[in-house]
Amino acid sequence: MISISHHGATSGVTGSCHELAVGHAAEKNGILIDCGLFQGQDEGRGASASDLSIDFPIDHIRALVVTHVHIDHVGRIPYLLAAGFDGPIICSEPSAIMLPEILEDALKIGFTRDRQLIDRVLGVIRSRLVPVPYGKWHPVFDEDGCSLSVRLQRAGHILGSAYVECDARVADVEECIVFSGDLGAPHAPLLPPPQSPERADRLVIESTYGDKDHEDRETRRYRLKAVLEHSLEDDGTVLVPAFSIGRTQELLYEIEGLINEFGGELWSNLEIVVDSPLAAEFTRIYRDLKPYWDAEATDLVRQGRHPLSFEQLTVINSHEDHLNAVDYLARSHRPCVVLAGSGMCAGGRVVNYLKAMLGDKRNDVLFVGYQAAGTPGRDILTYGPRGGWVELDGERYDIRARVHQVGGYSAHAGQSDLVAFVSGIPVPPREIRIVHGDPGAKLALKRCFQSLTGTDIIIPSE
Ligand SMILES: [Zn+2]
Repeated sequence: MISISHHGATSGVTGSCHELAVGHAAEKNGILIDCGLFQGQDEGRGASASDLSIDFPIDHIRALVVTHVHIDHVGRIPYLLAAGFDGPIICSEPSAIMLPEILEDALKIGFTRDRQLIDRVLGVIRSRLVPVPYGKWHPVFDEDGCSLSVRLQRAGHILGSAYVECDARVADVEECIVFSGDLGAPHAPLLPPPQSPERADRLVIESTYGDKDHEDRETRRYRLKAVLEHSLEDDGTVLVPAFSIGRTQELLYEIEGLINEFGGELWSNLEIVVDSPLAAEFTRIYRDLKPYWDAEATDLVRQGRHPLSFEQLTVINSHEDHLNAVDYLARSHRPCVVLAGSGMCAGGRVVNYLKAMLGDKRNDVLFVGYQAAGTPGRDILTYGPRGGWVELDGERYDIRARVHQVGGYSAHAGQSDLVAFVSGIPVPPREIRIVHGDPGAKLALKRCFQSLTGTDIIIPSE
């Protein structure tokens, strides 16, 4: 009578889309939690660029709840609308500001170049948005003895991210089901960490880092400092493939902190380039939404610091300026940090930088986020340190640049954070469904939960 099903993110980390249905078969009502695109090797499974159809029934779907605006959680929304979904899109207040921006970009890349069509789709999306404050119950439907309300709680993953508590009732059966979305790591810069739910009879939890813990904040700050100093010493460029939302802002925040702490001629020469109009736009939105920042960041602002808009930061907008910057940096070797998307090197401006810079050992590539199997990012990370090559746009590029990875800026909870999230629930859930992770990560997390008595632990497959 109250059932959970999955339309993505069960065999990988992308394409998140879960369904909660309430009621009997013929008259059930449901909601979707997220509707994301598949990426990397998960593509070709229903919602890649080549097959974007919504391959499950949606007539009974009354609302879409968005946990956060990463494309692997929202990228299929235009296709959901095209398939006839006509319900509200419920999300946090910051997500409501960011969602049209991220979808505009996604539409331009994957859907159409027709400006009028894009504007029409965005108009529809804007008209459906229902921003809901954190911590407030929001009724979705209540009829014929079936009801469902949802409440969003801070997830600490990116600005606006939420986990979703669902209070579902059918006749006299009542249940609280929690969907974690992507959970943030505690001690990440900028955002407060997630608190465990007060109640979760059933829990659907992500497991991106179900098999490992991140370095602590000081360690990774130190490693970030070491990589940046290396680049300053040999006048190379540090290329950071980063998603526009979340990691870019966390890194800017951390780099501003390093410049402030270590200063001196060395650090004051370092130039930081954000080569992405979208990342620049989201940095502006992050800056505008200070009420959602954590206490540490708020304190810095009180001290007169500007963690997301400091002097050494340059933003590149136009495509022409981008091409000039690639060319200039490849030849001039000024000490510089470039942040550009996409985060997994599967497209976007970072690809031009990689082509121009991978062959020179003075350059460094710094990965700060998860690299899904099948993406060029994963290949660079795997083969780069062995002197291998990567294929970009059908051509091989030798990797002589140094390749680094600093964990913890990924904005995903590590294994012990996920375990703490669950053990903080006063009464353990009777069922935990582990999604959104590679098979090894899911199994490792499953083992962590096995000590919970009376809890069914499921790794669903579609
Ligand atoms: Zn995410």
